[in-house]
Amino acid sequence: MLPKLPNYIFITLFTLAVGVVSFTYVQISKLGDRESELRKGQTVSNQAATDDLQQLKQDFNFLKQFSQDLSTKYRLQNPIITDRENNLFFNHKLRGTKSELYVDLRLGKLYKDYQTRLANNIILTRKMDLNNDFAGKELFSINEDHKFLKDLQTTALVIILVVVIGLIYNLYLHEKYLESHIEKKNENCQSCFKMLNATVPFATFNDGTPNQYYCAQCFDGLSFTEPHLSCKTAFSRFLAGKKMSSLAKVKYTKTFQNLRRWKMGEY
Ligand SMILES: [Zn+2]
Repeated sequence: MLPKLPNYIFITLFTLAVGVVSFTYVQISKLGDRESELRKGQTVSNQAATDDLQQLKQDFNFLKQFSQDLSTKYRLQNPIITDRENNLFFNHKLRGTKSELYVDLRLGKLYKDYQTRLANNIILTRKMDLNNDFAGKELFSINEDHKFLKDLQTTALVIILVVVIGLIYNLYLHEKYLESHIEKKNENCQSCFKMLNATVPFATFNDGTPNQYYCAQCFDGLSFTEPHLSCKTAFSRFLAGKKMSSLAKVKYTKTFQNLRRWKMGEY
């Protein structure tokens, strides 16, 4: 048989484990919120930068086309805005024909705006990369914390399970103890549960040998004095005049059921 651990150890462990489970539950849910916040942030900024870049590409093509259209319209030799390896270049005309200067003026502002927005997009992308980098690091650490908390929670749940088993085992041992106590010591009559003493002596068989289980009131030397007495009636007689909590009553009911007469009916 396994050694019995005191109930208070189990109860302390149980309280601690429940505390750990609640704590980890709250922390895990907090981490989950932070994680979705970061992921959402990443998606939003990625989307913003992508949209901006998309717009810039359209503007790039528009400017190139617009420059070519104006060149054709005003019969210029070269477009003022040209595309070299996917970069727009502005061939500024300080001098030239009236038409050239006119086209130069019209395209100049558009080109400048485009360049400014391109520069802003580069800054935005860098900033976003940096943020994503930070978010990535935080997400990694969140992941680590999450793993740790999960392990802790599992351990606590295992402890709770062990504690519950331990408590059930203690209860079982306690029952065993009560049973053996009643069986072995026989300090009480195994029919009416009165304490056996000078006033309530042990019964004797007719041949003079002592009966080690029953009092003289319950056993007359040959048989029970009231052969048809039920366990229930005996129990109500035992309870009569006693003030007892309902829990104690339940406990004594069990005790009564385990008395030799009511369990085995033997002398
Ligand atoms: Zn008795």
